Amino acid sequence: MNFPGIMPTLLLAACLAYSPAQAFELSYLVGLRDNQHTYYAHLPGNLPDGVSFFESFVRSLHVWMDASGNISLNAIEEEREVCQANFRGSSQNKVNTASFSTTFCGDDSYFSGGGAVADAVTQTSWDPGGIVESDIVFNEHSRSRFESVEHHFHHVATHEIGHTLGFGHSAVRSAIMQARLNYGRRDPVLSIDDRCALAMRYGSPEECPILLGEGLATNSLPTDAKFVGGATTNGGRTFEESFKPSDRITVYGTVVKDRTHGHRPGDLHVVATTDNGVLFARHADGNFHPLEDVGDIPSAGALKPDLYAQDLVIMGTRHFDREPSVGPLIGSVYQLVGQTIYFYLAYSLKERPGEYYYGSEPIRVSWPSE
Ligand SMILES: [Zn+2]
Repeated sequence: MNFPGIMPTLLLAACLAYSPAQAFELSYLVGLRDNQHTYYAHLPGNLPDGVSFFESFVRSLHVWMDASGNISLNAIEEEREVCQANFRGSSQNKVNTASFSTTFCGDDSYFSGGGAVADAVTQTSWDPGGIVESDIVFNEHSRSRFESVEHHFHHVATHEIGHTLGFGHSAVRSAIMQARLNYGRRDPVLSIDDRCALAMRYGSPEECPILLGEGLATNSLPTDAKFVGGATTNGGRTFEESFKPSDRITVYGTVVKDRTHGHRPGDLHVVATTDNGVLFARHADGNFHPLEDVGDIPSAGALKPDLYAQDLVIMGTRHFDREPSVGPLIGSVYQLVGQTIYFYLAYSLKERPGEYYYGSEPIRVSWPSE
């Protein structure tokens, strides 16, 4: 496997409408080294309720720790150098920090200017052994919002800390890791999607309530690939199997690749079947079409080589940054009352055409007759 040494990545939080978003996404093949991380946090100032930003940051660490039990995150209230000396835009100096600034290590493109402005930027670097460094920089220009909008800082901090755990953005609307956060309004609570990301990276897959059985391969060889997904009408707060024809259903799925498939290009696949055995495949345009040959399933989208876990919105109403996906299959939903559709999630590698890795259990969507 070809690891290119230290790979820095920039992950932007909040306000960026066009960043790619998936139901939970794991950016790297490795997580925190020894499952622990200590941040030097210099966050002067207070929230609307008088709690300090530092204390709120510590509470955000606990949102993740309380949900996992396997990770240890600490913050030390101390000002440390954030940036790499003489290197604009890089925070790589072997110190984990959380701070306010008007630029990201001299690069002001995220925090000001005419386009989308981020409330925070997190830069994480890693090597094959784990995440080696993370720096969270909160936008000083957003300070008045952090100081006036209840829950906003806590929410953004929890999201940024998720990046430092190795999590990418999620399309699931209720997820803390959703790219575009609503300003405050509620206490940050991890969604099922966030919890599944934690389970896959730092826990055991069975802790994810929407795990789709066990990972199987059509070549019958064992695989540790995992598949996650479900159908929701409330942005992923809950996942259900039975719906009314008038419900606006979104079906989310995530593929967690086999450990040995890192950095290999491939395709995502979704096969849907009805009670009477008719097969459909989801195409890259988001629509479902009849599947002619189960040995040659059309691509539902590219499998990104740099992601360990990747999702697609299998079916649903158009997301702000999603592919279109309401196809002929759902177009005739009123004819499906009394029926169930079973969605199987799979992927394949370019180097092994016709070989599929899939979840043993489908996502079930039923429209029971009264
Ligand atoms: Zn983000």
